[in-house]
Amino acid sequence: MTYQSGIRLRAQSVVGLLLTLCLALFTPALAQSPPPEVVDLTLGISVEGRPITGVRIGSGPRKLVLVGATHGFPERNTYELAMQLVEHFRANPAAVPPEIRLYIIPLLNPDGMALSRRQNANGVDLNRNMDTSADSCPENDWSQRVSGAYGIVSDTGGPYSDSEAESRVIRDFLLDADGVVFFHSNAGVVFPACNHEPSIALARVFADGAGYAFIPKWDFYPITGGMHDWAGGLGIAAITPELVTGDQPEFAQNLSGVEAVLRSANELLPQPQPQTVGGFAVQPIIWRAWRAWGGEPLFGLPIAPPVQTADGWTQLFERASFEYKPAQSDTTAAVQIGLLGRQLLTPAEVAVESPQPDARFFPETQHNVSGPFADFWQINGGLPIFGLPLTAAEQTTDETGAPIVRQTFERGVLQRPLDATSQLDVRLATLGRTQWAQQDARSPETRIWVR
Ligand SMILES: [Zn+2]
Repeated sequence: MTYQSGIRLRAQSVVGLLLTLCLALFTPALAQSPPPEVVDLTLGISVEGRPITGVRIGSGPRKLVLVGATHGFPERNTYELAMQLVEHFRANPAAVPPEIRLYIIPLLNPDGMALSRRQNANGVDLNRNMDTSADSCPENDWSQRVSGAYGIVSDTGGPYSDSEAESRVIRDFLLDADGVVFFHSNAGVVFPACNHEPSIALARVFADGAGYAFIPKWDFYPITGGMHDWAGGLGIAAITPELVTGDQPEFAQNLSGVEAVLRSANELLPQPQPQTVGGFAVQPIIWRAWRAWGGEPLFGLPIAPPVQTADGWTQLFERASFEYKPAQSDTTAAVQIGLLGRQLLTPAEVAVESPQPDARFFPETQHNVSGPFADFWQINGGLPIFGLPLTAAEQTTDETGAPIVRQTFERGVLQRPLDATSQLDVRLATLGRTQWAQQDARSPETRIWVR
């Protein structure tokens, strides 16, 4: 190395150092720049552990979601269509108007695709697995026995509604959506959620744009527990376009349908309306989660108005608190159940357990969950709803002196009569009321009133 080239190198490293310093100084400014136009997402995993992925294009206030391949391999042209739509909007993000954030989930049923079947890995038809009881159409309510294509009747609705990992992923991801399009094939029609005006309007516009036939109702055979009816029941504009063929993506037609929807997005994608339950206004997205996850039988009624927090809204119900966090809209956790069990009831020292036979052991907290509690925990939503067990199940008495069994979880407390054998005898304890009483005792108004 010559002396001169050494100087040059040193000069270059000084310039490099200055550049690094400048970058470090400007990084906070970069962090505050608008979110990128196109974002890749992983929303959850299938029964066999395959990722369920999506893409977001744009960052407007209205959430529109396109879903492909709910019915796996036989409807793989809907997966190809969704992939082509992803590529189109990746290349043309400006085609998504500023009021919209567009999500595309190309493959809701990756196990069905891998296993060359319509159902998921558990043999459940995901478009017959939803709790559709919130709408005004009792004939579409969930049933284990279902009708499918070609007149085939089978017990593929699942052991209970929302039983499948994939159903829970799309359910929780859509809670803050304004519109959703579920692509299927191959009947060549577009139909809306039952008796839901915004869905009917959306179906008409999409059908006109795509050149498919609009039908007000699918009446070739009954669809129970369908995703479009589930979404419509919660106030989300929801439609099912059926491609004409079983093997072509029909990209140009469906792009025209999507573009027609995007052009009229403000009219077609209504934002959720406030709800009143038991005399309390319920925050609209919290209302959807409360209704979708079990409603009054599981969580009880609201006992206080919604409260605005630093990152969204929270609201107390008799047996749980609900938290809505708009910044989590790219995930399945925009609505969460508050950690009332952990906040209110966990003693400082809890003896850990070793794994017991006939129990589900949670290594994270070293506790077992068994019998009616295990069934109740799993059937009613599992980890996101109840959290991990924080104690062993313990025998105690309720306020009337009757013997009960109780177990504390992160987000609630399960209790049942001592001799209960069924998960139907399990309830969440009224921790919302406990929390409300504590807040009430702390509030200055109450203290003045007590004096
Ligand atoms: Zn289908």
